[in-house]
Amino acid sequence: MKSRTPVITNFGRDIRFRPRHWYAPRSEAEVLQILDRHASGTVRVVGARHSWNPGIESDDAVIDLRHFDSVETSTSDDGTVWATVGGGCRLKTLLRRLRSQANVTLPSLGLITEQTIAGAIATGTHGSGKHSLSHYMEEIRVAAYHPESGRAMVYSWTGGPELRAARCSIGCMGVILSVRFRCVPRFLIAESMERRTDLEAALSQEAAFPLQQFYLIPHLWGWYDQERRVDTGSRRRSRWAPLYRLYWLAWLDVGFHLIIKFLVSVLGRDGPVRGFYRQVFPLLVARTPPVSDWSEQQLIMEHELFRHLEIELFVAAPQLREAAAYVREVLEVFAGTGAISGTLQTQLESVGMVARLEALAGSFTHHYPICFRRVLADDTMLSMASAADESWYAISFITYVEPRDKFYGMADFLAQSMAALFRARPHWGKYFPLTGPAVEHLYPELATFRALCRRVDPGGVFRNTFLERALGFDAPPGAGAGDAGQ
Ligand SMILES: Cc1cc2nc3c(=O)[nH]c(=O)nc-3n(C[C@H](O)[C@H](O)[C@H](O)COP(=O)(O)OP(=O)(O)OC[C@H]3O[C@@H](n4cnc5c(N)ncnc54)[C@H](O)[C@@H]3O)c2cc1C
Repeated sequence: MKSRTPVITNFGRDIRFRPRHWYAPRSEAEVLQILDRHASGTVRVVGARHSWNPGIESDDAVIDLRHFDSVETSTSDDGTVWATVGGGCRLKTLLRRLRSQANVTLPSLGLITEQTIAGAIATGTHGSGKHSLSHYMEEIRVAAYHPESGRAMVYSWTGGPELRAARCSIGCMGVILSVRFRCVPRFLIAESMERRTDLEAALSQEAAFPLQQFYLIPHLWGWYDQERRVDTGSRRRSRWAPLYRLYWLAWLDVGFHLIIKFLVSVLGRDGPVRGFYRQVFPLLVARTPPVSDWSEQQLIMEHELFRHLEIELFVAAPQLREAAAYVREVLEVFAGTGAISGTLQTQLESVGMVARLEALAGSFTHHYPICFRRVLADDTMLSMASAADESWYAISFITYVEPRDKFYGMADFLAQSMAALFRARPHWGKYFPLTGPAVEHLYPELATFRALCRRVDPGGVFRNTFLERALGFDAPPGAGAGDAGQ
């Protein structure tokens, strides 16, 4: 089961390391042996390596669950189809098998299907208009440690705080062996593209198009709405769906990205980027009539074709308008096309960040549409949309420029200032520049989460330096309310 240790890199190539030990176990017993062997070391699991932060890093042992890719479906008396899925199963394989076994699908999907199910839920992976995938997990089997003996064992959580913690645990509750969830019958989504005058106009469509996502176009500062709703009136995909797929692939997945790559990597100047978005983009993005297609096709794109890096910040629905206006102003200052307004000055003064933005003004021209996706409140402790009832909006910033130092400057500024101003939460599977105190302030149940992790991982085997710092494990126990006595 042990193989020669490979160099491990992620999709974005921002993470690269060689662990001392690399394993691809084939059974739960093998996983337990590995955990016992490394009980005084560090163990991290890799899925499809599509996250953009050091969550997967370990200088000691790395486990790859590629052989844990089984998919079993069963139907309960009320007709619900349940799926039990190995943690290493890729979403694309899972979707194919759900369809062939029971003509069902996942309740929610993000933009791609390359991820493993365990990797996706470990970071709160989400789409638009639904909960994150984490929320839907009703049983999670995990290999971790016995609290007293410290021996490796398998836990199966079907409820209570452990399930809520394990639904999005960034690998800190142990090795996710399998998950169980309710499937939904395959469904059609009708989609169309519309230009909107402003954010209010985009939001006003939410009732009619609950699955919509919308984009703020940099430098044009206009809004485009990818309107989506479940199409209950049709039984098959539209006649035009294959043509629409071809349009997306040729123009948006490939053509648009080639233009962006050319502008930022070959020309490497800011003027043409601004000119493209102001003059050309509105001519190229067509208003499309509604086209219905199966959710597995309609919700995804080939976003993995070109290497990039992303940070995504989640704000609670009541903060959305203010946060969106803030983002636009900050991006204009970064691009050197706008000055710090009175409102922005007041906001930054309240968090002591005026001088920092002044120093960064003109340092980076953002060059990719900023996507806004609504995520319903998750019943989890730590996914970005975890909350009692309110929805969240994920605001995404993507870069195709390398080296990425200037983008990191902007991303760090946005993450830190928006955490302080709007309690914005960065996605756990994307670039994540916050540490301890800033994160503590964002997640009311973080101390309880840490206590649960310490229980099933008394030696801290599942935590690397990044997670120690990001989740506040490096602070003395008791520093956060709820740490003691759990
Ligand atoms: C092109 C692209 C598009 C994306 N689109 C979206 C999107 O639309 N929506 C969205 O929310 N996110 C999106 N993401 C982010 C992605 O969904 C997350 O980063 C996800 O965690 C990646 O899954 P993975 O299988 O590659 O996991 P990895 O990157 O390998 O691992 C992610 C984390 O999960 C842990 N982990 C993995 N497997 C296990 C396991 N079995 N047990 C315990 N811990 C485990 C790892 O240790 C690590 O901390 C996108 C990423 C890319 C590159």
